[in-house]
Amino acid sequence: MRNRRAALAAVASAATLALTLTACGQNSEGGSEEDKGGSDGATIGIAMPTKSSERWIADGNNVEKLLKDKGFETKLAYGEDDPDQQVSQIENMITQGVDALIVAAIDNKSMNNVLQQAKDADIPVISYDRLILGTENVDYYASFDNEKVGELQGTYIVEKLGLKDGSKKGPFNIELFAGSNDDNNTRYFFQGAMNVLQPYIDKKQLVVKSGQTELNQVTTLRWDGGTAQKRMDDILTSSYRSDRVDAVLSPYDGISIGILSSLKSDGYGSKDKPLPIVTGQDAEVASVKSIIADQQSMTVYKDTRELAKVATNMVDALLNDKKPETNDTKTYDNGAKVVPAYLLEPVAVDKANYQKVVVDSGYIKESDLK
Ligand code: BGC
Repeated sequence: MRNRRAALAAVASAATLALTLTACGQNSEGGSEEDKGGSDGATIGIAMPTKSSERWIADGNNVEKLLKDKGFETKLAYGEDDPDQQVSQIENMITQGVDALIVAAIDNKSMNNVLQQAKDADIPVISYDRLILGTENVDYYASFDNEKVGELQGTYIVEKLGLKDGSKKGPFNIELFAGSNDDNNTRYFFQGAMNVLQPYIDKKQLVVKSGQTELNQVTTLRWDGGTAQKRMDDILTSSYRSDRVDAVLSPYDGISIGILSSLKSDGYGSKDKPLPIVTGQDAEVASVKSIIADQQSMTVYKDTRELAKVATNMVDALLNDKKPETNDTKTYDNGAKVVPAYLLEPVAVDKANYQKVVVDSGYIKESDLK
């Protein structure tokens, strides 16, 4: 049993009719405490990275709602991309006596001390979407198949350039962008994409004219679109005065929008100078609109509603002394342990399937795309 509140939760979960009847009176939705997973007053701390991107706002809301539906109390905080602020938010949650933590870290290496405090207070920790590194005090990891995200982006590029089916030989010019270097997902996304792109780079069918091909040359601190825009400006000035870029690997929609602004200011987007293929991730509204307008080429959709379900089910299981469901117990080594994980599948989305995948599924409202 992890702590006093968890003990109460388990008692509630195992309770029979008598307790159910008592609980019924307090449950506004009419279900019994047993239906709701036996959460009896437990509070879950949720630490999200930033409100500057839609996906994290939706993640916070979804996780909160699902936990409340299960009868938990919640404390939700956004670190606004400041690692120190996020750590102190989590410290506050621990002081306030939360029973479990769900953490989407800003800096995956900044959590050692605070998660030791969580451990000392017997508070289980779910690493949400981004793997927390270098500490044993992470119980489970809920995410997507992050390498696959990059593979989908890389595959889209080689398919659309005609390299994959051999209908075109190239050479084509490509530039590479990666995410924030303090986010563990960054290397998985980049690795996945390079698994697909590197063989074509080796055969000189793809050429990176800037020469910037190493991960540490192409990262974008805090996934900032403005930073990416500036880097694209510099690359266009230094390497594309007399040449055109045909594809840009972008790991995230906010970065893609920055890259597209840079390209448009440089005159791309006309008949003579078409925009390159530009990838993305997260199916954010601005990017789906951009895809519909034939600007951004694709995005990778990750149904964060499902991720919230996985993470909240993990918490529910842990606080009721059950084993959370996992489907990968090998891949996610955080340097201190291999963290048992549940990974969901990402899906490539472009103009051809956005309606079916993101609108018909209810992820984005049709009216938001007008
Ligand atoms: C997430 C991506 C997101 C990025 C920027 C990553 O950790 O997995 O979905 O695009 O952070 O917020």
